[in-house]
Amino acid sequence: MATTDRQATTLALAHALSAAERGLAVIPLARTKLPALRSPHRGASTPQPFICHGECGRFGHGVHDASTDPARVRALFAAAPWATGYGIACGLPPHHLIGVDLDIRHDDAEPDSSTALRELALRHLFTIPPTVVVLTPSGGRHLWLTGPPDHVVPNSAGRLAPGIDIRGAGGYLVGPGSRTHHGTYTTAPGTSHLAPAPCPPALLRLLLPPPVRRGGSGPGVSAGRGGTVSDGRGGAVSDGRGLVQFVLAAHEGQRNTRLFWAACRAYENGIGPALLAPLLEAARATGLTDREARATITSAARMTGHHP
Ligand SMILES: [Zn+2]
Repeated sequence: MATTDRQATTLALAHALSAAERGLAVIPLARTKLPALRSPHRGASTPQPFICHGECGRFGHGVHDASTDPARVRALFAAAPWATGYGIACGLPPHHLIGVDLDIRHDDAEPDSSTALRELALRHLFTIPPTVVVLTPSGGRHLWLTGPPDHVVPNSAGRLAPGIDIRGAGGYLVGPGSRTHHGTYTTAPGTSHLAPAPCPPALLRLLLPPPVRRGGSGPGVSAGRGGTVSDGRGGAVSDGRGLVQFVLAAHEGQRNTRLFWAACRAYENGIGPALLAPLLEAARATGLTDREARATITSAARMTGHHP
């Protein structure tokens, strides 16, 4: 058993060093997926005057210990010979890594997180670029994206959609090759050679704290609160005519995306049910089948928290 653990630690260190070489700052993790080194300040008899992030010079400050320096990574693992995995700190230069954590749900009543992400992408008109994907032992997936250096992407759980957690500044991702109580994290086939891709701007806008959200750059979220509700294209949503026009003007490759987007705006603004028939008619006029159009509108209703 001890030998097995030692091998696991050696392997974890090798994986961690290889991540560090790619510019990803790492810390050793225990089988619990928690940082392997515990805080040197736990059980301190006197209350700390400040929260230490490693200023004391010792190890054990979680993600604040993270480093790309191979000597420091080796030292961290030497101090934690029980480590069987490693964590990759998010939000740090040069990559400013953002982890999109897609949970697997064992609940048929809810759409799974991959579907939720797809719907989010349709609704906000972005595509997830080819990037590193890590498979978790529970069947979930971590998508690795890079963020901008000038904005801090916070951690969030389920804010974007059920089952989608975001690992940002102060968070970490379990690195591929890590062993945990539940199994081993691996890179999805065909993605290990990829560099983490830049986060699409439309997705980034959803990840940043609300005050940073800006309207006017594409049909993102620009619905004001209490004031005039705009569809982001200069048309008032109030009677939905702009939304129907938006669908009618769709080229073949945009029909479904536009219908989804328009239906989302309609449901968000309380005119979803009233606009169902006009949107279906517009969708049929663009060449979508009734079945396709209904499925898309149903997705939009679900995505915006309505039950069609
Ligand atoms: Zn300290």
